[in-house]
Amino acid sequence: MKNKIKNNLLGEGKTKKIYTTKNPHEIILHYKDSLTAGDGLKKEFLKDKGILNNEITTFIFKYLNSCGIKTHFIRRINNREQLCIKVDMIPLEFVVRNIITGSLSKRLGIKEGTLSKNPIFEIFYKNDALNDPLVNDHHAVFLGVVSYEELNIINKITFNINNILKKYFLEKNILLVDFKIEFGKDEKNEILLSDEISPDTCRFWDKKTMKKLDKDLFRKGKSEKIVIDTYMEVLKRLNID
Ligand code: UDP
Repeated sequence: MKNKIKNNLLGEGKTKKIYTTKNPHEIILHYKDSLTAGDGLKKEFLKDKGILNNEITTFIFKYLNSCGIKTHFIRRINNREQLCIKVDMIPLEFVVRNIITGSLSKRLGIKEGTLSKNPIFEIFYKNDALNDPLVNDHHAVFLGVVSYEELNIINKITFNINNILKKYFLEKNILLVDFKIEFGKDEKNEILLSDEISPDTCRFWDKKTMKKLDKDLFRKGKSEKIVIDTYMEVLKRLNID
């Protein structure tokens, strides 16, 4: 159903739709129920996943805003939608790893679950045709999608976000294993944290049991109920002060 302030569809990604609003500097993000893994090869719909990720992202972005991190988030409008500042997205994914797992564990031959003393930063170039390759700062600047100055700013913000969220989740008995964030630039060219932060984009492990509380359950073929119940569990923990 058409929302009063929602205008035209501006774009659609794997998990969200973007709508224009009457204000040219604001957009509406609509969270879908779709879920993909392996560069979109595995695709499914999980009923109400969009509602949960909208709520979880709202919690996290509000918290980051309160800690002084500048984000595109303005407010949650309804159970699937958020009002956000319109930004030009930088086509890079910034990944931070605190605990070694997944592909990095295989690539470096390090045991799964090894704690890294230094957070490991990685950059991926968002390009479906190339399967989002891993790049370094120089590649990113060469590609013309970001400058060295902007990368410096992004690195500082990313480092802060990691420290804030690691502590925040630990209070909820969750280990922030790794996560992916994206940035955009507003009309004044200011860099804002954009997109979402949810169990789709982070690896969360229960501190006591080391149970996975994220999209890895979907990647590993767990049932829809198990995945949705787990996302609900994350939301429940965020709700507890
Ligand atoms: N990630 C994401 N979107 C992507 C790729 C990665 O949100 O397109 C997140 C993922 O959920 C995880 C972290 O970034 O928390 C590292 O993911 P990666 O795909 O690199 O996993 P790995 O290579 O370790 O299996």
